[in-house]
Amino acid sequence: MALIVQKFGGTSVGTIERIQQVADKVKKFRENGDDIVVVVSAMSGETNRLIDLAKQASDGNPEPRELDMMVSTGEQVTIALLAMALINRGVPAVSYTGNQVRILTDSAFNKARILQIDDEKIRADLSAGRVVVVAGFQGVDEQGNITTLGRGGSDTTGVALAAALKADECQIYTDVDGVYTTDPRVVAQARRLEKITFEEMLEMASLGSKVLQIRSVEFAGKYNVPLRVLHSFQEGPGTLITLDDEESMEQPIISGIAFNRDEAKLTIRGVPDTPGVAFKILGPVSGANIEVDMIVQNVSHDNTTDFTFTVHRNDYQKALDVLKQTAEAIGAREVSGDTNIAKVSIVGVGMRSHAGVASRMFEALAKENINIQMISTSEIKISVVIEEKYLELAVRALHTAFELDAPARQGE
Ligand code: ADP
Ligand code: ASP
Ligand code: MG
Repeated sequence: MALIVQKFGGTSVGTIERIQQVADKVKKFRENGDDIVVVVSAMSGETNRLIDLAKQASDGNPEPRELDMMVSTGEQVTIALLAMALINRGVPAVSYTGNQVRILTDSAFNKARILQIDDEKIRADLSAGRVVVVAGFQGVDEQGNITTLGRGGSDTTGVALAAALKADECQIYTDVDGVYTTDPRVVAQARRLEKITFEEMLEMASLGSKVLQIRSVEFAGKYNVPLRVLHSFQEGPGTLITLDDEESMEQPIISGIAFNRDEAKLTIRGVPDTPGVAFKILGPVSGANIEVDMIVQNVSHDNTTDFTFTVHRNDYQKALDVLKQTAEAIGAREVSGDTNIAKVSIVGVGMRSHAGVASRMFEALAKENINIQMISTSEIKISVVIEEKYLELAVRALHTAFELDAPARQGE
């Protein structure tokens, strides 16, 4: 008998019919004799709807604590509906909010981190033969305030529960049948991966593939939780996220391509080139709580320098204001910005053992006449910033250049 944590995402519980289908599925697992803990998201679109309401009530700037109080209600609806549907099928079930389980988090509202999970209640219910249905995305801090874990956070609830309960597997059920070489909704030739390493999945998630929330992959890696992504309503093996990265001749150099339209670029030109210039520019940006992603500095011949960096698009206006003030203070020539950019990244542990990956990437983009504005690399990924309108073309060109759309690959 196994203990399985199953997480169902928003589209999988988006209607009553789907919730009934999920209940049928959980019932089947239960009849196999396995202990089941189910984590559900809010119905698809519900979290967006709630955030929108909160913005309307607060001139676009909701108080973070109250926002969490509100958006956590989306999941409270679906846990109860699923528990009802299970009970209706003769499957004993009970639903709990994050607070009731006691998923303890820090107090960083809207992006809280899980600190500890109390497994006592869940274990008692499992021993009594009940399916336990837990609300994803939410927790409670030391003071008893409701917190949420950031968009896509139900994945993290699922994995964290699996870690706390030492579950045999954490199954993430969604609207695609696994992790693909790239977003299958953008590239028709994308292929499902039989498996992908935690390390690669972490890069994919942090570079824009929202199939799993980054923190869920971090958790799974840290606690070695067997993690699988599957389709909610189609049979199939899905994709296993694994530690194993055994090298083989057949191993592809690149496992996947991630992309992200959420960034914006800022440039400050004609900055007097003196020691400490990067700090003078980026100090006030981080002082305003804005996270910087990519950075490029060009030295020019007249003892000035140009400095370009990217931030999340939501922070663009704030960053631009800060940068304008800095430009005045340090006597820079001009400040400009661009929100029509996108970041495309290739990811693969195979990169470690292959030379020439970057040039192959740049060649593929050059062939399509796509200009690269910024580049950043790390051991297992290369990212470029390009004009947003070329994003899909770039992803498709790279997918082909790295032979990801070729039919067979080892292990499949
Ligand atoms: P859920 O509501 O179940 O959590 P999400 O919308 O958060 O589902 O995540 C699933 C979506 O992730 C897919 O519909 C797909 O468009 C997108 N996605 C992005 N990159 C990938 C990828 N590499 N493989 C699979 N899906 C991806
Ligand atoms: N309902 C939350 C969201 O839409 C959490 C989740 O779906 O994982 O972000
Ligand atoms: Mg999700």
